[in-house]
Amino acid sequence: MNNNKTLNEIKSNRNEEKTVKCDVALNINIDDKYIRKTVPNIPDISEGTLLRHYTNLSRKNYALSTTMYPLGSCTMKHNPLVNEKIAKFDGFSEVHPYQSEETMQGSLEVMYELQESLSEISGMDYFTLQPAAGAHGEYTGLLIISKYFKSRNEKRTKIIVPDSAHGTNPASAALAGFEIISVKSDEHGIVSPENLKQVLSSDVAAMMMTVPNTLGVFEKNIKEITELMHDNGSLMYYDGANLNAVMGILRPADIGFDVMHINLHKTFSTPHGGGGPGSGPVGVKAFLKEFLPSPFVVKDGEKFKFHFNDKEKSVGQMKAFYGNFPVILKACAYIKSLGANGLKKASEQAVVNANYILSKLKDRIKIPAGNFCMHEFAMSLKGALGGGVRTLDAAKRLLDNGYYAPTIYFPLIVEEAMMIEPTETESKQTLDEFIGTLINIFEESKTNPDVVHNAPVNTSVKRLNEVEAARKPKLRW
Ligand SMILES: *Cc1c(COP(=O)(O)O)cnc(C)c1O
Repeated sequence: MNNNKTLNEIKSNRNEEKTVKCDVALNINIDDKYIRKTVPNIPDISEGTLLRHYTNLSRKNYALSTTMYPLGSCTMKHNPLVNEKIAKFDGFSEVHPYQSEETMQGSLEVMYELQESLSEISGMDYFTLQPAAGAHGEYTGLLIISKYFKSRNEKRTKIIVPDSAHGTNPASAALAGFEIISVKSDEHGIVSPENLKQVLSSDVAAMMMTVPNTLGVFEKNIKEITELMHDNGSLMYYDGANLNAVMGILRPADIGFDVMHINLHKTFSTPHGGGGPGSGPVGVKAFLKEFLPSPFVVKDGEKFKFHFNDKEKSVGQMKAFYGNFPVILKACAYIKSLGANGLKKASEQAVVNANYILSKLKDRIKIPAGNFCMHEFAMSLKGALGGGVRTLDAAKRLLDNGYYAPTIYFPLIVEEAMMIEPTETESKQTLDEFIGTLINIFEESKTNPDVVHNAPVNTSVKRLNEVEAARKPKLRW
């Protein structure tokens, strides 16, 4: 290590070098007031030390490349690296959105192909690829619904949202100017037509539904619900964030939905830990085409070109240019590489994997929605834990065991909830290890509750004071 003297020497040498080099190389006189008087405070270390520093930092992280990531509701599956490679091809990464249509036919074709694939998968007639995430897609879809009723001179101000819905549903509806009406799930964790009838009125614009819902349960009454809503003159919105459970098996348009979004980053393979990047294309039935954001891509003979909707009708532009292109490209590559059969298989395997975990745990935990789930399930850990240990503690203890902590206390209707979504890409061995770890934590909460209370103890950052973090957020470093 440097002692002070040598460090100072290094600094003064560096200062001199810099001043001289600048003057000579650029042949300009820099006013003395702009020249640094002190060397910036950066470490003077070897390349090898720097490499080790960042590699070790990255190892403190939880990532799909190092561990199973059972984060319910988020579809953290393996994202084939070949898609990243494709996204880096010069022909795609060097294109500028201001180029003319003729000079970026390849990129337009990718967008067109993805629109077509999403239409085939969902049954919707038209897609916009603009929205930047699921929530942004919801907002776009709700603006489309709002414009539709305006064009018909119908005043409809309410959106119905089930109490099991993802928090973004009511938030997007409020942002789009609607009032939110909550509908209670029944004892099976789904919406019943009876509960729906109680909140249905002539000023309801639409109902937002997630199928399978956030409890991981298929909404069995969907046909009756969509009929009720359509008879009421209302539209049906499908939150497609859980499409990973039904690809190639169920098409939302076929069961009565009019508008939907798809989370490309979840279902169609873009790494999205830490909040991005995302893409939330919105699909509509043909009667809503004119309200879509502009532009989207159409095929004209052999050529691909942008289509602009009438300005008065369209909800306008939802994002700069054409959407989050690298995510669009990766989704297209993923869909083409799996093909129709592959997508269906992926969904089937996702459902089998979730049910495998559920079946191994079901004697120890309470599953509010029964003994069968779709691609994920919510469980209540209330009866499984002892020693005053809560779900929060158990989730933190999973961190100690090398797993990313799953979604907890959501959905709100499940007491001491923990949500598990293994996805299709985990092996039986990995699932068995995870199940074993969870069961160990249940046991540990009874035999050694203190250690679970204090978890995590093996991570670089230990237990945080969550109350203080919420009350006194440190917004500036
Ligand atoms: C993830 C998710 C969303 C929101 O999607 P973002 O891309 O995170 O904005 C909406 N609904 C459900 C059911 C989700 O799982």
